[in-house]
Amino acid sequence: MPRIGAHVDQDDPLAHARARDAEVVQFFLGNPQDWKGPVIGEKTREIKDSGVDVYVHAPYVINVATANNRIRIPSRKLLSSNLAAAAELGAKGLIVHGGHVGAGDDPQKGFDNWRKVFERMEEHEVPVLIENTAGGGNAMARKLERIARLWEALDGFDVGFCLDTCHAHAGGEGLDDVVERIMAITGRIDLIHCNDSRDAFDSGADRHASLGAGQIDTELILGVCRSANAPIVVETPSESQAQDIAFLRKHL
Ligand SMILES: [Zn+2]
Repeated sequence: MPRIGAHVDQDDPLAHARARDAEVVQFFLGNPQDWKGPVIGEKTREIKDSGVDVYVHAPYVINVATANNRIRIPSRKLLSSNLAAAAELGAKGLIVHGGHVGAGDDPQKGFDNWRKVFERMEEHEVPVLIENTAGGGNAMARKLERIARLWEALDGFDVGFCLDTCHAHAGGEGLDDVVERIMAITGRIDLIHCNDSRDAFDSGADRHASLGAGQIDTELILGVCRSANAPIVVETPSESQAQDIAFLRKHL
């Protein structure tokens, strides 16, 4: 049975884990929409060595793929500072979205920029897990064809993968065999973001729903969890997380 938990608020992750009976928590270290560096509060720190596994989600503003220097350079810095902060908490991984290049840009530029991130990155103990995204014009990690090119560019580096079921569905990748198709590219799935989707297949919309409340066949979600055999984090609405975790434990 994989370890199962939830994305929670950083204010008191241990209390949130206990309230949900979560064996794993994920949280942001700061506002995901701003560029301020990560902050670890006293309460946040209590999660370390608590027995609950920790994943840190990097801010959404990070886009290391872009050709725009004014975004790319601070993105790299924010990625580094989040990696260092995640290490302080003994995190198992830092999740970062694949990002995108501009509408008219050659996506290869974005894959090359990702490679530079790893070439220049200092020694880090926490693995970087790149997450597939639901939408984003000219995205690096929405379609599997792009993920394959990204992994080609990152060949030789230790890079992990986080598979989000809502993003795969809304991004237009069928969940029935997505684990096998991803594994054929990356050779690993380090974490599952287990979410239902409020929107239709291939809609490109990133709106998570509680398990069973969205447009994905729940059996498909369970199938992904079974075949990936990785830790699971639900990023569903806070009020349904305890129920979503219990549902997964019951059916997996
Ligand atoms: Zn996610």
